[in-house]
Order: sequence, then structure tokens, then C-alpha cells
Amino acid sequence: MKCYDCDLDGRGATAGIGICSRCNLVVCADHGHVTPTVLHLSGGMGKATRERPGRRVVCHTCYAAERSA
Ligand SMILES: [Zn+2]
Ligand SMILES: [Zn+2]
Repeated sequence: MKCYDCDLDGRGATAGIGICSRCNLVVCADHGHVTPTVLHLSGGMGKATRERPGRRVVCHTCYAAERSA
């Protein structure tokens, strides 16, 4: 699959490294941002978050949107 943002920029078919967890578009290493994410346990006893963070990929546009405001 090719990066959607590269396609828009006319950079051609750059191979994507992941899929944005927000908009589900394919992103390359340049346009994607891999960010740690804390996993929450559903229900149960004790602490509600896991010891180690997971990760997710967001595209440049969604990353900027999350950082804004
Ligand atoms: Zn790209
Ligand atoms: Zn996105």
C-alpha cells in the first residue's frame, strides 16, 4: 500500500509503514507518527492501566489535529 499524503504531494508511491489509527489512511515513515499509548483495562480490580504502553500510528494530519487546541 502507498502513503496517502505522498500521493497527495505528488511524491509518487511511497511504501506505507502503517495505518493511521484515526482516519485509517496509509502513512509512510515521513508522514506517520508512532506514539505510545496507555492501554486501559476494561473493568476488573486494581489499577486500571497496564504496566507498559502500547503504540499507535497516526498520520501527519491527525497528529497535528491532536496537538492543536
Ligand atoms: Zn508519506
Ligand atoms: Zn489520520
